[in-house]
Amino acid sequence: MLESVISIFAPHTCISCGFEGEILCKQCWPKLGASPESCYICHKTTIGNSICDYCSAETNLDQLWVRSSYGAVPKELIRLLKFNRAKSVSATLAVALTEIIPTNYQGTIVPIPTASSRRRLRGYDQAVLIAKELSRLTSLPYSPLLIRKGQSRQVGTQKADRARQMADAFRIRRTSKTDIAQVLLVDDVLTTGSTLEAAAKILKHAAIKRVDAAVFARA
Ligand SMILES: [Zn+2]
Ligand SMILES: [Zn+2]
Repeated sequence: MLESVISIFAPHTCISCGFEGEILCKQCWPKLGASPESCYICHKTTIGNSICDYCSAETNLDQLWVRSSYGAVPKELIRLLKFNRAKSVSATLAVALTEIIPTNYQGTIVPIPTASSRRRLRGYDQAVLIAKELSRLTSLPYSPLLIRKGQSRQVGTQKADRARQMADAFRIRRTSKTDIAQVLLVDDVLTTGSTLEAAAKILKHAAIKRVDAAVFARA
């Protein structure tokens, strides 16, 4: 509500150069940087793929596309997404994600739900905003297939701690359509990947054949 009022009276300025009009102007768009060219699990160099052949055996994700490394501009966009200007920033991140998803991609866009304590605090779920906008831009179907259980959120910094906390974090929405064969999970930031892995695992258990993911920035 407040944001929509502000955006009417105060036009956005570019976070990088201050030019009026957009959150990130055309001139500054390259400051998003390139996709990180390494496997997110073992950090070995890969090209155009964030999961290497070796690690693909131990993940439920079939493909993972990451738009940017966690440089200054991506970091600032994430900060604004969480504390301010959520709607317009999520639209910008959705545009950035269209640049890494193959043009012939077929799949249903599913947001990774934010932990409910944070969602209550902010009054919105940023992954839902990004996913809905991405669906609008790509014409791919959107389905809020996942529900985050209870207060599950990551507190430890160790990968094993996080994986344990997230293992039981999601359930499938009962009213969801069951004829979905391929899912594209959408989230803003990738850290250890345990959230994506937990989501991919439950979707595979629900007989979804292929689970891919698109994430804006890799920390
Ligand atoms: Zn600019
Ligand atoms: Zn690897």
